[in-house]
Amino acid sequence: SKLVTDVICPFCGTLCDDLEVEVSDDGKQILEVRNACAIGATKFLHSQASDRIIRPRMKQDDGTWKDVSYAEAAKYAAKILCEAKKPLMYGWSSTSCEAQATGHMIAEQVGGIVDNTATVCHGPSLIAVHDVGIPSCTLGEVKNRADRIVFWGCNPAHAHPRHMSRYSIFPRGYFTGKGSKSRKIIVVDPRPTDTASLADYHVQVEQGRDYELLNAIRVAFKNGPLPDVVAGVPKEKIYEVSRVLKSGRFVVIFFGMGVTHSLGKNHNIDEAIAVTSDLNAYTKASIIPMRGHYNVTGSGQVLGWQFGFPFCVDLSRGFARYNPGETSSNDLLLRNEVDACFVLGSDPGSHFPNKSVQEIYKLPSVCIDPHMTPTAAVSKCHVPVAFVGVEVGGSCYRMDNVPIESRKVVDPPAGMLTDDEFLKLVLAEVMTIKGAA
Ligand code: SF4
Repeated sequence: SKLVTDVICPFCGTLCDDLEVEVSDDGKQILEVRNACAIGATKFLHSQASDRIIRPRMKQDDGTWKDVSYAEAAKYAAKILCEAKKPLMYGWSSTSCEAQATGHMIAEQVGGIVDNTATVCHGPSLIAVHDVGIPSCTLGEVKNRADRIVFWGCNPAHAHPRHMSRYSIFPRGYFTGKGSKSRKIIVVDPRPTDTASLADYHVQVEQGRDYELLNAIRVAFKNGPLPDVVAGVPKEKIYEVSRVLKSGRFVVIFFGMGVTHSLGKNHNIDEAIAVTSDLNAYTKASIIPMRGHYNVTGSGQVLGWQFGFPFCVDLSRGFARYNPGETSSNDLLLRNEVDACFVLGSDPGSHFPNKSVQEIYKLPSVCIDPHMTPTAAVSKCHVPVAFVGVEVGGSCYRMDNVPIESRKVVDPPAGMLTDDEFLKLVLAEVMTIKGAA
């Protein structure tokens, strides 16, 4: 066997880059995955599943699947995209930046809507950044400098398991040589989570009252008056936490969907960013969203370079428009505005409301995914592809916007295409149809 080192984990936005994978001499089989957490290791091992689907399939009238070639699947995808007035091209968060760029070329040709998983995740954070900017930093700075860590509305113990050991709670950094003893941890969450059990301060905010609590912390920074209880938290605790934050050398606030998708949405993040800005009057402070899919940050980056907006990009009028709430996937699906659906690198069948999934089921649709997902199950065509970060490399962006090159560790099954290769086939078919039109 041989050992592949410095492998990145293509699962969550922590994008751990220290994995070691033992592979068989012929480079076809993964024998062992070292250093990854349980969810990361499982992704590598899933690629080895004996029941893996390895050929594209079209759904027949009786609901059964019929194997087709990649060329036939690409022809079908190009046809439905070209025939549609407003095709939705959704996903992009679990693939490489190179594949994203190819997908965007198709979207430009067919006048599609390109949206990524931020639409049901950190979209409100991106809107808040448009409003007020973001004082941020890298995870390397967090490890080496941060002595006050806040987890607000996120639970890395489950969603980003190695974040705490690599960057935020336990590691010994240059100015944080005593590891977790160098840091004070504050968790703001209505529930007693596993992350909260590691905290010095667990602030049990009432569900949906984050905005008030953030506002009260800003008042407490200035020793202003507070009611006895704000958002379910006694004022003494709010003053104490604000003192702990102000006394730090470097504060970092990590936040998740508990704040982005509870009452207030992007305004919660406006206020969290305001807390961070206020803190910079006393010490140094930064704020980082806990991004979920391993390359959702990359999708926002690539869309940003190419069209100027990080998600919900509507190209149906021949130029880029952006208006979350109008041009966002669920709003379009629920208003029946979409007439074809192309999904790559995400599983809206699991994450979207039932009504949206029912709408996808009715539409001409293609799902490009290595797994048999709920989205694949409701789509008319399922195209399995190689796992990015396992069977093919490519550029990805970590949650702190640092680009990292992922590595190939094993060969994909014989004859299997990568996302980018399949997208290039679709693009060629689209160009043929457009040329003939
Ligand atoms: Fe992979 Fe995330 Fe686990 Fe790191 S923390 S090994 S990136 S799933």
